[in-house]
Amino acid sequence: MIEVFKEFTFEAAHHLAGNVPPGHPYSRLHGHSFKVEIFLRGEPDPKHGWVADFAEIDRHLQRLRGELDHNYLNDIEGLQVPTLENITRWIWNRLHDELPGLHRVLVRRGSCGEGCIYTGMAA
Ligand SMILES: [Zn+2]
Repeated sequence: MIEVFKEFTFEAAHHLAGNVPPGHPYSRLHGHSFKVEIFLRGEPDPKHGWVADFAEIDRHLQRLRGELDHNYLNDIEGLQVPTLENITRWIWNRLHDELPGLHRVLVRRGSCGEGCIYTGMAA
């Protein structure tokens, strides 16, 4: 089994007002730099010798980046509560049908050493 990964970054604003106590710092509008890593598992196909075509992966990731970058996450369908957990799962759900072998989505928030990993329904 081989695992390949690709990264992309995006900048976005959000707030969690209504989901955190009044006065909580996350309730105020603010922004982050997000770094996303997606992992695909599989065996290299005999014809190409690769698990997946990185150009194909990149096409999907750039489309997704276009939806997220310099956007206000609360306005995106499915991200009305834009926690790190929900963002990670949202990215997984958007990519799962398009990227066979998708195994793991990891999202890092800023440079604060925080992140989230989602592996879908995989056992
Ligand atoms: Zn935040």
